Amino acid sequence: MHKYVIMGVQGCGKGTQARLLQEELDLAHISVGDILRQHIQNHTKIGARIKRLVAAGELVSDGLVQEVVRTRLEQHDWNYGFILDGFPRNRHQAEFYLEGYDCDAVLQIVVPDEVVLERILSRRLCSGCGLDYNLIHHRPSVADVCDVCGGGLVLRPDDNPEAIHSRLRDYHTQTEPTLELFRKKGLILQVDGTRRPAEVYAEVRRELGLV
Ligand code: AMP
Repeated sequence: MHKYVIMGVQGCGKGTQARLLQEELDLAHISVGDILRQHIQNHTKIGARIKRLVAAGELVSDGLVQEVVRTRLEQHDWNYGFILDGFPRNRHQAEFYLEGYDCDAVLQIVVPDEVVLERILSRRLCSGCGLDYNLIHHRPSVADVCDVCGGGLVLRPDDNPEAIHSRLRDYHTQTEPTLELFRKKGLILQVDGTRRPAEVYAEVRRELGLV
């Protein structure tokens, strides 16, 4: 059983690394951003409450995301463990997590702001199945068309310069300080995220002792 948290500024590649770990270790990949986007796409009550905030790149209330995480973990479909992506994002959420759940390691993927800005602006999302693409590292075979479902590729509504700056600011002022809480518990494993995804993953495996 592995219980991991993956952290890093938006666009650092944590979603990609989380999916690789999910495949190798059969973990549940719990991306809070993906769950919130599904609510918006499915026009749920929660979706209506958070749509504007998510589009502006602002953080959704702690109470709401904590409820989303609690409900997701209560499904207990994670026999081999889970990797939590996009949560916690501030001190309150980190304390909520540490009070209620175990953690084996927190992977911190480190990438400078100027690199993530360039990456985020080249990011595309399939409007059909939600798969992530990146016009630098992971291009579709046919321009603007999803390889898996044939859906059109679009920019995420929150991948515009204003929303990106708002998310970078929140990361440095609210999320980064929470790393200290995990560091004190000896849980932080730092990985350089500027290289190609396969090289980053090789380091992730080394840090986690999977080799
Ligand atoms: P992400 O896909 O992780 O970039 O998340 C997309 C958006 O969902 C963020 O910009 C926030 O609006 C919201 N969100 C995701 N995770 C959290 C969280 N832990 N706390 C508050 N808001 C969140």
